[in-house]
Amino acid sequence: MKYIKYIALAAFFACGVCSCSEDSLDDQSVFSTEAPQRNEFDIWLLNNYVYPYNIDFKYRMEDKESDHDYNLTPADYDKSVAMAKLVKFLWIDAYTEVMGDRTFICTLGPKMIHLVGSPAYDEGQITLGTAEGGLKVTLYNVNTLDPHNPDIEVLNFWYFKTMHHEFTHILHQTVEFPKEFYEVSTGRYTGAGWVNITDEKALKRGFITNYASTEVHEDFAETVANYVTHDEAWWQQQLSIAGDGASYIDQKLELAKSYMTETWNIDLESLRDIVQRRSSEVVRLDLTNLND
Ligand SMILES: [Zn+2]
Repeated sequence: MKYIKYIALAAFFACGVCSCSEDSLDDQSVFSTEAPQRNEFDIWLLNNYVYPYNIDFKYRMEDKESDHDYNLTPADYDKSVAMAKLVKFLWIDAYTEVMGDRTFICTLGPKMIHLVGSPAYDEGQITLGTAEGGLKVTLYNVNTLDPHNPDIEVLNFWYFKTMHHEFTHILHQTVEFPKEFYEVSTGRYTGAGWVNITDEKALKRGFITNYASTEVHEDFAETVANYVTHDEAWWQQQLSIAGDGASYIDQKLELAKSYMTETWNIDLESLRDIVQRRSSEVVRLDLTNLND
């Protein structure tokens, strides 16, 4: 039920054309007309997320948005500022650049990005991020981010591979990828047993990571997310470790590339070039200043 609220909220924000009814209205609004108390960061978020992209960026922990299975702490203010600037630069602006305008993220982007300060541990596993029905992405462990010394490998591991992974789920949940992708590794998926195989073993079995071996949709999301967030040298290194498994990974990458081009008009190589270039520019960003 809670998703309905976000869809209704989305309809209020100007993300494209807004049409208004001509019906005569009671001049007594049922909503409070008092302006909410907004700090400098809230205003930055309005101008950089809400108005242009229709994305609600939640950094204050609200109990109803959090997973009650975990013991979680809120994201610190400074870390949230840094994360908001990084998500915009490395993820939203990368898609906007490859697509040429904001429409794609406006239409398909999550309606909410939710930050949590602590990691989410569950029986020895750490959840890096979650996506719910394409509407909300939660990023955990935000408080370990160092705004003055961002390390792109750490950022990719904790956050941006996760953002691309979760967004890839949104895309294939909107338009499913072709059956050919299912067939490449059919019968080789490990389900919950993925935790018992190393990345190296997974590569030899034809999966880019051990998590990709879970099932076909995770395989697809991991293939895209790892391709975009790593350079060609890394990718080739994985293929050489994979040995005989490399041909499976190659086939799946080619199918993912043609799906992205044919379904979404996204050239995955261009997206990767843009993400790689932006990743190299992160060290030059001021992740504390809200006025640039
Ligand atoms: Zn996933």
